[in-house]
Amino acid sequence: MKCVICKQGSTTPGTTTITFERESFTMVVKGVPAEVCDNCGEAYVDGPVACDLLDAAEKLAEAGALVEVRQYVATGTGQRPLRENAIA
Ligand SMILES: [Zn+2]
Repeated sequence: MKCVICKQGSTTPGTTTITFERESFTMVVKGVPAEVCDNCGEAYVDGPVACDLLDAAEKLAEAGALVEVRQYVATGTGQRPLRENAIA
């Protein structure tokens, strides 16, 4: 698709690093699947993926974590690895 940020590039499948900040909690997730602009590098993450990341971030924040850095894991089995890791 056409990039809405720079309006010049087009996006191709790739990965990106997502950073969440919420009050005192920061979560960084590497290797998140996304459509990445070949011109400016803006990344577009799918809704379901973003929801999973947000769920994981909120659980960690509630548990009192301050900083979390992790690699995104897609199992393809319908499981939600980020959420399970957050509970563990
Ligand atoms: Zn762009």
